[in-house]
Amino acid sequence: MKKESEGAGRMDRIAKTVFAPIYPVIAEQILDRCGITRGRCLDIGSGPGSLGIALARSSDLVVTLLDSSLEALKIAEGNVRDAGLSDRIYLLPGDVHDIPLPAGSIDLIVSRGSIFFWDDLARAFAEIHRVLAPGGKTYVGGGFGTAELRDSITEAMIKKNPDWKNFRDKNLGADNQARIAGVVRDLGIPHRIINDDSGFWVLIEKEQ
Ligand code: SAM
Repeated sequence: MKKESEGAGRMDRIAKTVFAPIYPVIAEQILDRCGITRGRCLDIGSGPGSLGIALARSSDLVVTLLDSSLEALKIAEGNVRDAGLSDRIYLLPGDVHDIPLPAGSIDLIVSRGSIFFWDDLARAFAEIHRVLAPGGKTYVGGGFGTAELRDSITEAMIKKNPDWKNFRDKNLGADNQARIAGVVRDLGIPHRIINDDSGFWVLIEKEQ
């Protein structure tokens, strides 16, 4: 528990400092690329909630922050309250491998930087597909929004931890991207991959 709370607190500090500029940028990219600005949104592995908060600020979406870490959700609760969004952002403890929501209940599923920690990608994507509403879309993956942000963040993070670039390259490298894309393809779920300066993202649109 100590380790988990340290991890959640560390993520919150990074999200509020070095990573802070990426969330509004990624939120705009999601809204633009998915074209869903109202309805129900689920942020999987939300951590301190920065992406969900940025999405709620820029849209009419009602957002649920899902995380398997109770410590992360406790921190997210404070951040949502500070943002004045407690009436439009809800917290949900849970695991992506067994999402505690009914089938077809979510219009937009987003997730940033969490997929690299999921144990069973096939089960996770089957769950994501199950809870998507007909016509619903996903934006699931990792990245920093733009090349400039990625490069400045890499520089800042390497100063804190020289191993960080290896961690980033392993997560966002070609092998891992191919592995993730292969899992979604093998599930037979129609999808599109975005792999550009914004990051690596899996876009699914559920059939109507
Ligand atoms: N999405 C946030 C962001 O970009 O700032 C946080 C990213 S943090 C690197 C990864 C988060 O995923 C952590 O809060 C962790 O608890 C959560 N997570 C990891 N495995 C998970 C799982 N199986 N189900 C739900 N959440 C998970």
